[in-house]
Amino acid sequence: MDPKELFMHGEFIPTEQGVISVRTHAFAYGTACFEGIRGYWNEEDQQVYLFRLREHYERMLNSCKILKIQLPFTVDELVDISVELVRRNGQREDVYLRPVAYKNSPVIGVRLHDLEDQFLLTSEPMGNYVEITGLQCGVSSWRRIDDNALPARAKICGGYVNAAFAKTEALQNGFDEAIMLTNEGHVSEGSAENIFLLENGELVTPSPSENILLGITRDTVMQVAQRELQLTTRERQIDRTELYIADEIFLCGTGAQVAPVISIDRRPVGTGSVGPIGQQLQDLYFDIVRGKHATYKDWCTPVYAAVPQHT
Ligand code: PMP
Repeated sequence: MDPKELFMHGEFIPTEQGVISVRTHAFAYGTACFEGIRGYWNEEDQQVYLFRLREHYERMLNSCKILKIQLPFTVDELVDISVELVRRNGQREDVYLRPVAYKNSPVIGVRLHDLEDQFLLTSEPMGNYVEITGLQCGVSSWRRIDDNALPARAKICGGYVNAAFAKTEALQNGFDEAIMLTNEGHVSEGSAENIFLLENGELVTPSPSENILLGITRDTVMQVAQRELQLTTRERQIDRTELYIADEIFLCGTGAQVAPVISIDRRPVGTGSVGPIGQQLQDLYFDIVRGKHATYKDWCTPVYAAVPQHT
């Protein structure tokens, strides 16, 4: 069943009324940016926790800056709108929030300026986005979009055509997910995930300048690995063949969560099964996002008012 309501152009409206014109600039040219935010149901607390909501909206406002989109909302207001939408929908399950900021003018002609900007937000139920018990990945023949062509740092709708090319190629070649390289041939990221390798007891991940989206899960993993497993992450350039000899590899993202990789280009990663560090980080991640880990409770925004424990 569709969620009852969404938020569009400043108000909460019934889902079926959430339509855009075929003449919308963003539809024709991809001139929009978005976020993907997860909320996790915690049965014991009877609560939905929205994970790192502020950080997602801070990133979205940065994407907006790059795209010359001006929204009439602050991060605090966007946080409040998100909490209210889930509450109005009465969702008591795992949810996925999709805010979109877009060029709404019904105008023919490519540009970013002198167009009307708009914002909408939907919230729908969502399970796993990719397999989390061992992914088989392939290096894509499609290269990652470059910062000076279509910046991956901003979550721009049009940029996801690049991801779609890579994902479809991977699936049609019998893989679960694609790993994209930069134009220079270094490891960049998955179609919708950042990548980590474990090499000689150290985590490595591509630097921000490798045309990646600076993932919020990437940051979560780096902080949690340091604090809980005393594992430092090195951000650096990574060669393709490091993928073939790493001890462990995992992908991470809001959708993918923490997803271990068990083979790359048909070569087993490590032993060819889920490695211990990937498994530990995945377990920690699931505890954290469901609000079960006291240290990281600040990252979880509760949707429903606290229910008194004792009457
Ligand atoms: N890279 C790309 C291309 C993505 O689409 C995503 C998903 N938003 C990520 C990385 C992971 O980012 P995050 O952890 O913030 O969801």
